[in-house]
Amino acid sequence: MIDPWSSKILEYNEIMENFGIKPFKEILDKIEDPHWLMRRGIIFGHRDYERILTAINEGKDFAIVTGMMPSGRMHIGHKMIVDQLVWYDEHGAEIYIPIADMESYSARDIDFEESRELAIKEYISSYIALGLDLTQDNIHVYLQSENLLVEDLAYIFAKKVNFNELRAIYGFTGSTNMAHVYVPLIQAADILHPQLEEYGGPRPTLVPVGPDQDPHIRLTRDIASRLQKRYGFILPSSTYHRFMRGLTGGKMSSSKPATAIFLTDTPDEIEWKVKNAKTGGRETLEEQKRLGGVPEDCIVYEILLYHMIGSDKELERVYRDCRNGTLMCGECKNNVADYMRRFFEKFSKKRKRAEKIAESILDRVHP
Ligand code: SF4
Repeated sequence: MIDPWSSKILEYNEIMENFGIKPFKEILDKIEDPHWLMRRGIIFGHRDYERILTAINEGKDFAIVTGMMPSGRMHIGHKMIVDQLVWYDEHGAEIYIPIADMESYSARDIDFEESRELAIKEYISSYIALGLDLTQDNIHVYLQSENLLVEDLAYIFAKKVNFNELRAIYGFTGSTNMAHVYVPLIQAADILHPQLEEYGGPRPTLVPVGPDQDPHIRLTRDIASRLQKRYGFILPSSTYHRFMRGLTGGKMSSSKPATAIFLTDTPDEIEWKVKNAKTGGRETLEEQKRLGGVPEDCIVYEILLYHMIGSDKELERVYRDCRNGTLMCGECKNNVADYMRRFFEKFSKKRKRAEKIAESILDRVHP
């Protein structure tokens, strides 16, 4: 059982075997211009991605749904989703971004007003500054608590699912509050509502997630098949990405500032954090020259792998030089800190400009 609200680090191969997730690398060469997260194996698994691929290749309609839960500050790990959305936007997707304020309320005890504020200030502004134009007609951002169509659909879904089933998937107990029990149904409705007639009818739908969110995908696919006759739902596809580790080597978490680079950190703070992150370096310079570093254990390298280098060649060069002991951690950290400083100097200006637009995004009316 996977608990989407826990903070355990998950074993990716085990999850793939236990839950029937297919390796993404098997379909990689069918994608004309794969995203760097796909090429580098960070997106490692999928269910039914072939449907999305066909839609992209044949220029047909498809939707992508990915929520944001406003429960804290947006960190660099969250950026990965926006990078994927930008790619899917360029490949013709209709994009749905539910803001999970109902989940924040039931699972994190954050009230609706606070969720709205957090969504605008932390998330929507950053999404825009990272290059996703949320004012486009093909992008729909909404608060769960204000989308009555989604809420009605969740109620219809509730008739098709019983408590024993939810308990088996999520481990709910007798003391779990009922709002929390209801949230997976709202999320299923978030994922499937783009296939309602009001939104253009059934079509391939993709949900890019971390593996911790797979319980929602499995439940939603079950609900979709139970209601296929009534709505003609196409089972949603999904992709699974690895999580970037925190700066100290464990899980990156919004509630532990030392583990994360926040998108609202100042360039000075970011530079300091990079220079103090865990590396895969050896105890002494002499040892590092002789044995080389271990980039697989290095968070500084992970920053480059996940976020900062568009060119695979340059990344390979850092990997090779680290491995063969010609690159030392001091120099490497300085380079990455410099790279990050320049990126965030530009990003924070863009973010400032995006704040005004962000405030109006939630007032837009969608069908
Ligand atoms: Fe990490 Fe760079 Fe040190 Fe290698 S040289 S362990 S990549 S900081």
